[in-house]
Amino acid sequence: MCDIAICPGSFDPVTNGHLDIIKRASEKFDKIIVLVSYNAKKNGGTFTVSERVDFLKRCLTDIPNVTVDSYDGLLVDYARKVGASAIVKGLRAVSDFEEEFQMALINRQLAPEVDTVFMVSSLDYMYLSSSTVREICYFGGNIENFVPAEIVPDIVKKISKKKQI
Ligand code: ADP
Repeated sequence: MCDIAICPGSFDPVTNGHLDIIKRASEKFDKIIVLVSYNAKKNGGTFTVSERVDFLKRCLTDIPNVTVDSYDGLLVDYARKVGASAIVKGLRAVSDFEEEFQMALINRQLAPEVDTVFMVSSLDYMYLSSSTVREICYFGGNIENFVPAEIVPDIVKKISKKKQI
């Protein structure tokens, strides 16, 4: 049997912290689906869903068992649709834990066959979030240590043009 896991998130935009978790998860599961989850009715976010998917695809070309998709709906419904057995989440700090724990329990209630697996962030990325990257970029700081080089120009272009975080 093929063990499929989903790495869900907003990825607005993807950071080196996300990529670290995705790469490590890809060594533990047969197949990883990185899922940009969104709610079409809530018009949130800096980057469009297709931009976020495009960034992820460009950063993940070297990992053959990883694909990227997007979904506007309940994560457990998507998990059932693709036959995933696990949801992989990264934990940076205790502050991440409470919300993630609650979400894991709810998802378990909705779909007991899908387990949530937590992976602890690498020390190098404990402080890193998409919002930090957007904020640094907005104020003209260098984001090269935080996101892969191939997407830096697109992030800078959009955020400096938009002038909002
Ligand atoms: P954020 O906007 O806070 O960066 P996302 O919703 O895009 O968060 O995150 C998707 C998943 O990646 C979540 O499980 C989140 O905890 C995890 N994650 C985000 N940043 C990191 C990081 N620096 N290290 C480990 N996991 C992370």
